[in-house]
Amino acid sequence: MIYIHVPFCKSFCTYCDFYSEIPQEGQFDRYTKQVCDEIRRRSAEIDDHTKTLYFGGGTPSVLPLGDLSRILLTLEECGHGGPYTEFTMEVNPEDIVERGLPYVQSLKALGVNRISLGIQSFNDNLLRWMNRRHDAEHAREAFRLVREAGIGNISIDLIFGLSNLLDEVWDQTISEALALGPEHISCYQLTVEGDSVLAHRLENGDYEEADEELCRKQYDHLCQRLREAGYEHYEISNFCKPGFQALHNSGYWERKPYVGLGPAAHSFSGRGRSWNDAVLEDYGHTEESLSVEDEKVETLMLALRTARGVDGEFLLANCLPENIDPLLREGALVKIGRRYRIPEDHFFVSDQIIRQLI
Ligand code: SF4
Repeated sequence: MIYIHVPFCKSFCTYCDFYSEIPQEGQFDRYTKQVCDEIRRRSAEIDDHTKTLYFGGGTPSVLPLGDLSRILLTLEECGHGGPYTEFTMEVNPEDIVERGLPYVQSLKALGVNRISLGIQSFNDNLLRWMNRRHDAEHAREAFRLVREAGIGNISIDLIFGLSNLLDEVWDQTISEALALGPEHISCYQLTVEGDSVLAHRLENGDYEEADEELCRKQYDHLCQRLREAGYEHYEISNFCKPGFQALHNSGYWERKPYVGLGPAAHSFSGRGRSWNDAVLEDYGHTEESLSVEDEKVETLMLALRTARGVDGEFLLANCLPENIDPLLREGALVKIGRRYRIPEDHFFVSDQIIRQLI
């Protein structure tokens, strides 16, 4: 599993505090050179068992195709070339519309077989409030172009948990998403991140956070609409048509090893975690091993995010019966075969449930 972080954005969204830079002259070239050097240096760490490649960001769709090709060629030279079982590229709608059908056709020709479109909302007022560069029409047009290019596995991202998201606007956004028929929908609850514009708005009294009741209402509505439309709710924030679970992200939840390349990218070796510095040039790499306790907590936290849940033997060996039993009695945890899971109607409070277990 390979993750490549593309730390460029043409503008910054109000809620985001990910590491990202507005691209300057010559930076794509220098970035690409560094990623290629890192591939060569860390080639032995790459485990091709789960053969997935994921370009995330930032905004990978701002990267010139020539630079993308150089990275793919370097992977090939090092013995980690395609075809990949799943090759995902995160893209923003406005880049797809600006660069047009030939761009998506080129992505497909380079081996991309899954596109993740950062739509977030189909409401223009909210999109402006988020400082997104696209509007709803761009989102629909981008989706159409990706489909026309022959990409049969499209994921779209949506955001809920905003205090200024009216019920009818949320319902309309879900309807618009369903009308497009994506194979996969990721839906994240807005959180106010440390140094984001939204955090400053909150401080200045220009934004009030949505309370838990409102977030829960929006989440429940989403779950109900997507269930009725035939989507499987296979992870707290992820839904798919049958057979379209994200392989790469599922690997994260199953704690499969992955190598993250590029500034600010994180990696997991199976024994320890490591990450690159969040700077564009000459980024360093820091490693951290995990204690037995860390591993136990991670396994529980990641597995219980999913509908597959956690292995029963693991749960019973690592959690006390006095913590497990009350959750089973109140239906916050259910046993299915040899596994235990948090049922969908308790997903929203999964953090509390996991804290109770550990
Ligand atoms: S949300 Fe995505 S597009 Fe927006 S600033 Fe963050 S990384 Fe860039």
